Amino acid sequence: MILIRHHRAVIGAAALLTIGGLAAQQTGAGSLEVLPLRSNFYMIASAGGNIGFQIGADGVVVVDSGSAASADAVLAAIRRVAAQPIRYIINTSADPDHVGGNAAIAKAGQTLFTQSGGAGVAADFLGGGASILSAEQVLTRMSGSTGKPSPFPLAAWPTETFNQPRKYMYLNDEGIEVFRQPAAHTDGDAIVFFRRSDVIVAGDVLDTTRFPVIDTAKGGSIAGEIAALQKLVDTAIPSVPIVSREAGTLIVPGHGRICDQLDVVEYRDMVTIIRDRVRELMKQGLTLDQIKAAAPARGYTRRYGSNTGPWTTNDFIEAIYRTMNHRGQ
Ligand SMILES: [Zn+2]
Repeated sequence: MILIRHHRAVIGAAALLTIGGLAAQQTGAGSLEVLPLRSNFYMIASAGGNIGFQIGADGVVVVDSGSAASADAVLAAIRRVAAQPIRYIINTSADPDHVGGNAAIAKAGQTLFTQSGGAGVAADFLGGGASILSAEQVLTRMSGSTGKPSPFPLAAWPTETFNQPRKYMYLNDEGIEVFRQPAAHTDGDAIVFFRRSDVIVAGDVLDTTRFPVIDTAKGGSIAGEIAALQKLVDTAIPSVPIVSREAGTLIVPGHGRICDQLDVVEYRDMVTIIRDRVRELMKQGLTLDQIKAAAPARGYTRRYGSNTGPWTTNDFIEAIYRTMNHRGQ
């Protein structure tokens, strides 16, 4: 765990940081730290959702773009460690704290394709900027085609979408797998696995700062949430059999600190235990209010719970209650 703790300690540090011979720089007030996770893979925190990016001869591949307000700072942070053009943004959901920087960061980049920007839109029309890849539902939400006007400009929309369980690319000498996770945090979640770097960017299916946000209005569900956490556990590898090496897959959550596989196992178990308790109370015929009063999240509320704000412990319990399927999952 020392490697992981080392990363955690560094997140709060300022000025010039050096890990494994790589320098992470923080210059000037209000600028964002760039945390090296691997020789060609970096993380930016505090820009809305966490951002991960891979660098190589093909250019820069960015997972999530942070909030709109942070876009300039994110771009400056990427530029401090990468001179190559930004080729791709991959979005893990349609949440504003993960796609808010799409337009600005894509515009600063350059697509690998000269003929088409994908989704039937000519690259020239998009200014030839970086491609934006996501699950199809992200485009549906961002383009406002569910009947509401779009809250995002056209330049922020995904240019390339997918519906299959696994979308893959091979860039910068490594395989990149994008796993669609239907009906977890929302109906458009993706987790992104960089196979050689051995880093997974999880998006909001994993949030170490609170109980996972199951956005029922956007198609999230408890079964899908647990399935997504299981996918993370199954994809990651812990540092075995030589535990003392403290190596293993790194998982970047949507919010909060970097995790290893054991951290995700614990988080999955926590969510599963609370789901099981709610299911048991439902079987006993309790109403939602009675279930909330029975405190099924006890034991975990100090670490993950909240009585105020946009995602309370009761919101989490209610999301489980309302999305439990007929098999009790
Ligand atoms: Zn988020």
